[in-house]
Amino acid sequence: MDVIEKNILSTVYAEYFAIFFTDDGVIVDCQTSSPLLHFAKTVKKLELIISSAYLDKSIIFVKCHRILTFKQIKNNGFHIYNEKSFFNSIKEEETQRLILRATHWLTWDTRLQYCTKCGTELQSVFDATEKKCSLCNLSFYPKLSPAIMVLIQKDNEILLARSAHFKPGVYSAIAGFIDIGETAELAVHREVKEEVGLEVSELEYFGSQSWPFPDSFMIAFKAKYLRGEINIDGNEIEDAQWFNLNNLPDLPPVSSISRKLIESFILKP
Ligand SMILES: [Zn+2]
Repeated sequence: MDVIEKNILSTVYAEYFAIFFTDDGVIVDCQTSSPLLHFAKTVKKLELIISSAYLDKSIIFVKCHRILTFKQIKNNGFHIYNEKSFFNSIKEEETQRLILRATHWLTWDTRLQYCTKCGTELQSVFDATEKKCSLCNLSFYPKLSPAIMVLIQKDNEILLARSAHFKPGVYSAIAGFIDIGETAELAVHREVKEEVGLEVSELEYFGSQSWPFPDSFMIAFKAKYLRGEINIDGNEIEDAQWFNLNNLPDLPPVSSISRKLIESFILKP
């Protein structure tokens, strides 16, 4: 820890801007509402102890421990937000992208500490999203878990579902992880059949989004209802219904691809 701190604080990187993650979330400047903070000044002012750092082009992502209390941090003009809540509050796309990337790095850096082959503690590479094992020389990179999402349309209605871990009242499109050996399209058909008992056709690619809570890569589709009656699995899904434009439930945050997918139907059914 001391070595990282001494090395980057005593070099040109001290003048760079950084995003700081504590165990409680991301540090944000109260006045600017920005997570981009001057690296050396913030470390000194908030007495942060750096445990890990990564240079992402011109910005440093920093994992650190805080000594000061929340009140002391607030008195210095900063606030600590939960990463997901903060991401959901960001309007600007470039800042969203940056926080997604920084959060993904943080999750990976925190979870992957030891070589999966020999158990040796891994060493971080400062200017690459890479960790190395000094004993067996293996390199490790951030993990992405591909998943699909699909919005099913039937005439003027869309199928939305909710799982138990959603906030009360919130419904979203059907989603699930892609299985080994499976294409994204096959995963759509399987997930829809498994979760709500329906069959779909006319798949149309919509877009994708990295979602680092913890490490998904979401590939979103639109599809047309083909046949079947709603029959929820009762496991992953606790309710699913057809909704029309005048009768929509609460939706996921505006920053999520699920919301963009649903809004594409609202704007152009
Ligand atoms: Zn190893």
